[in-house]
Amino acid sequence: MYGSIRIEPNLHSKPLPNLDENLGFGKLFTNHMFMMDYEEGQGWHDPRIIPYGPISHDPAAMVFHYGQAVFEGMKAFRTENDEVVLFRPDQNAKRLNRSSERLSIPQMDEEFVVRAIQELVRVDAAWVPKKKGSSLYIRPFIIATEAILGVRPSMKYSFIIIMSPVDAYYDEGLQPINILVESYYARSVQGGTGNAKVAGNYAASLKAQTLAKEHNCAQVLWLDAIEKKYLEEVGSMNVFFKINGEVVTPSLSGSILEGITRGSIIHLLKEWGISVSERKISIDDIVQAHADGTLEEAFGTGTAAVVSPIGSLLWNGTPMVVNHGEIGQLVERLYTTITGIQCGKLPDTFDWLLKV
Ligand SMILES: *Cc1c(COP(=O)(O)O)cnc(C)c1O
Repeated sequence: MYGSIRIEPNLHSKPLPNLDENLGFGKLFTNHMFMMDYEEGQGWHDPRIIPYGPISHDPAAMVFHYGQAVFEGMKAFRTENDEVVLFRPDQNAKRLNRSSERLSIPQMDEEFVVRAIQELVRVDAAWVPKKKGSSLYIRPFIIATEAILGVRPSMKYSFIIIMSPVDAYYDEGLQPINILVESYYARSVQGGTGNAKVAGNYAASLKAQTLAKEHNCAQVLWLDAIEKKYLEEVGSMNVFFKINGEVVTPSLSGSILEGITRGSIIHLLKEWGISVSERKISIDDIVQAHADGTLEEAFGTGTAAVVSPIGSLLWNGTPMVVNHGEIGQLVERLYTTITGIQCGKLPDTFDWLLKV
């Protein structure tokens, strides 16, 4: 499919930095990137691994004007046995196609996408850090590159994969965060693009995010755009609550991104015999559970942090403190289990890892 991947080694490689030192998130990039182009009539072609560096495009390239761009986010880990593994990459490839479909971007062979990621990680395998909790963050994305200002789907695209060694999201273990429940701005709406990993969704979310920071909140909890009543997700994470022993998360209404971490957590909870349901959850349900003392835990889930405990929810100017602002038992167990599987400390019972 698409021909074999040509490899052009970077003759001006940066020396490998000390990966035990502070890496931050997405600041440092490896020596190579993957690229493949699409042209109407020809399809996807010329897959190649080339030196990492700036790319040049015509200022009329459609992505700059109409935002036809989708992306993915995933990680490679170095296990305790010094193997390099990917976590559920097939799920990312599937979701990339789903996002593309929504933006009228041509589909790609999913097995090929996984193979391209594997090949690139292999080339820059030395950049997969070893330090506890660290990983190589992988960012596949597709942009519309045809240079024409007419509004219609582009006839040319580039599929690019870049990689960045990153630290654990929480340097000193899990840290509960404050969240602002957003009552004015909306992230997405049914029929919109909220269930696709689309670059523009993020552009539209920045303003509310900035305002939340002024209230000392790390992220916003989005409500549905129509009734401003039902919970959707937290910033770039899905959201879960433990209420009176039951775990609940908003059902995939069409405006929520289907997180791979979300799916993995639902799977684990079922395995553990913990009751979990995907349903509509209103902010009133949460206020009620908080008032009657049954709101036991709240947390966000996503590739970057795995899980992120919520210490308090700011709603209508009043903070609702969850679990005394402390890390809950369930969130801790989920974190230990998922990171344990990723670093090879726990058995890969569900076949979630793919060796590179
Ligand atoms: C990527 C993303 C998530 C989390 O998805 P994972 O696959 O778990 O990383 C959640 N919400 C939004 C809006 C996202 O873009």
